Amino acid sequence: MKPKQDTLIVTAGRDPDAHFGVVNTPVYRASTILFPTVEALKTRNQPYTYGRRGTPTLAALQEAIATLEGGAKTVLTPSGLAAVTTALIAFLKTGDHLLMTDSIYGPSRHFCDTILKRNGVEVDYYDPAIGAGIAAMMKPNTRVIFAESPGSITFEVQDIPALAGAAHEGGAKVIVDNTWASPLYFKPFEHGADVSIQAITKYLGGHSDVMMGSITATEEAAKTVLAAHGAIGMTVAPDDVFLALRGMRTLSVRLERHMRTGLTLARWLEGRPEVAQVIHPALPSHPGHALWRRDFTGASGLFSIVLKPCTDAALGAMLDNLDYYGMGWSWGGFESLIVPQDLTGIRTATTFACEGPLLRIHAGLEDPDDLIADLEAGFARLNAANG
Ligand SMILES: *Cc1c(COP(=O)(O)O)cnc(C)c1O
Repeated sequence: MKPKQDTLIVTAGRDPDAHFGVVNTPVYRASTILFPTVEALKTRNQPYTYGRRGTPTLAALQEAIATLEGGAKTVLTPSGLAAVTTALIAFLKTGDHLLMTDSIYGPSRHFCDTILKRNGVEVDYYDPAIGAGIAAMMKPNTRVIFAESPGSITFEVQDIPALAGAAHEGGAKVIVDNTWASPLYFKPFEHGADVSIQAITKYLGGHSDVMMGSITATEEAAKTVLAAHGAIGMTVAPDDVFLALRGMRTLSVRLERHMRTGLTLARWLEGRPEVAQVIHPALPSHPGHALWRRDFTGASGLFSIVLKPCTDAALGAMLDNLDYYGMGWSWGGFESLIVPQDLTGIRTATTFACEGPLLRIHAGLEDPDDLIADLEAGFARLNAANG
């Protein structure tokens, strides 16, 4: 019987027998790796050849992520953004056309609008809700459809099988940024993706102390990914990989709690008079809820709310004095976060109407009662300051 996911998360990428019984793959620090003979040097016929090209430490994380995502091969990058840019560079050259979701992570958009365009790649942004309608935007030179589902600020759920159908019909690849769901709650390769990206920085790392990304690909797409990743010289530090692996082993239990607390907060927020809208794919009120139910097996702890219009001072009174929610970028750590988000300039194909301030919330691992009480006190301050 094939082991289930929660078993794989414990066993994947581990080989204690190869390390004197030590449970965790040790940190191998390496630049030079020695060859025993001229023949071995010439043929490179050994598992590891040079630090930049891999060590047992890196291989452990790569193997684990490939197993969990359901892809053939994984490579690691020094940030999630580097995973996005490396994957795009791998498949695109001057004269090619990229279809990019309008809900894309801001820095990924910036890369497309600067480096890619400067190098003669045509970039069109599409409505994340377009589904099979993407076929009408395909051009003879379209090489990549890039999706991020759900978007990490506005949480549109994308129809990946429909995008994949159109892409493959036209000879293009589908790259999915799968960071929100993590490899546990969405299986990109079962839904037609060729490449899946994780910002390991978020849930896989899980402790707000490591920057890393991964690119996982099918056997066929992996050739292109590995070639570009190696040519550019991407590599990661073994200590960081150790942290990522350590975080990953508890991903399933953490994520389940993030999901539960996120939903508890989201449902409570739906009943608050200060809140105009709760944007959470696992709530029936979400426009992408049916797609989420069809394709995902869970939700992470990240969602947004739109407040009713209020003054900046009132928003400050609410957010500046919270006890448990930090204000800062990234998410996926054990701690709760809340950040006001400005959508200005990060939409071009669609508009996202908000009647008041948009707040992105990350539900951490604190007790949900404390998190609710903290928000409740925040709303009281907001109302008092709003007059
Ligand atoms: C954070 C994030 C990234 C970038 O990851 P970094 O490690 O911060 O570079 C990419 N995609 C999504 C969806 C993210 O949330």
